[in-house]
Amino acid sequence: MTKITDFQLFFQKGTCTSCKKDTFIIHRKHSGDKLCSTCFTRSIEKIIYKTISKYKMLNPSDKIIVGVSGGKDSLTLLHNLIKIQEKNYQAEPLIALSINEGINNYRNNSIKNASEFCKKHKIEHHAFSFKEKIGITLDEINKTKKKTDNFRYTCNYCAVLRRRLINDGAKELGGDVIALGHNLTDIAETYLMNLLFNRFHLISNQYFFKPEQAEINKYFLKKINPLMKIPEEEIFLYANINQIDYYASHCPFREQDPILRKRVLHFIEECKQFSPEIEFNLLNGFLKLSKILYGQVKPRKFNSCEQCGYPSGNNTLCNYCQYVNKFNQ
Ligand code: SF4
Ligand SMILES: [Zn+2]
Ligand SMILES: [Zn+2]
Repeated sequence: MTKITDFQLFFQKGTCTSCKKDTFIIHRKHSGDKLCSTCFTRSIEKIIYKTISKYKMLNPSDKIIVGVSGGKDSLTLLHNLIKIQEKNYQAEPLIALSINEGINNYRNNSIKNASEFCKKHKIEHHAFSFKEKIGITLDEINKTKKKTDNFRYTCNYCAVLRRRLINDGAKELGGDVIALGHNLTDIAETYLMNLLFNRFHLISNQYFFKPEQAEINKYFLKKINPLMKIPEEEIFLYANINQIDYYASHCPFREQDPILRKRVLHFIEECKQFSPEIEFNLLNGFLKLSKILYGQVKPRKFNSCEQCGYPSGNNTLCNYCQYVNKFNQ
């Protein structure tokens, strides 16, 4: 993964292709643009606004729950949604929601940044924890799982449990839609992972313009990714230029587990050196393929989980309940 350390290293002397000023500029290799920090900021904000509008992500009266970890992506998203909401007279106040998995020396610190940011901008902020909702922290799960035969990576458990807590937390807070800070690099990585694992049903399921499915919407709120057209390093630059006070460390489990996701990310980063537009190609591929597949793949019938009633695929219990039961034995 690109080591992003000092944001000033991204600047070089030159002429801004937008305002024509001779100053320090950022060279956007994927488009050829060379932008001063003001034009760069404006361009990122325009991309976010256009993404929301093009993909009809929001209705003016939606109650938006913003998932905030305290990192650069989620705070950049919140920063922009605040600006967008200021211009919308029908807007419901934003609510920020953090999930505390219970990762020592990491999540408490990042949530502190989220909470301070929200306080500064007068945004209502809630934090739900694994401990309080499931009875166990991710650190405890990590210790327990090492003793079981059925070994899975900590991230596998975390993703399933956190996804459910965000969804249920947002429903509890009266939300209509959940806004998440997934950026272009995350989307490209997930798409490539789904291709590698032959998960065409997931790609089809992620099609943006599928009709409302009352059966599914009963359980899961709509999720939107307004940063999906911005590469990770540009969010890093935007957050620094705009002095967004984010938490910069990475989750320790991501480094510990030799997950394939990390290798896929390395691969994308390597390809970017030669083809700077590669992530955009992956995003466009995902948008096209999800549309084609959605028209062809028959919706899979699903069971209802015997414990919580949520969709559970072919199983009697959903993944979430299977894990919760396993760790509360
Ligand atoms: S890196 Fe893995 S364990 Fe850490 S927050 Fe993400 S999914 Fe959870
Ligand atoms: Zn400029
Ligand atoms: Zn269940």
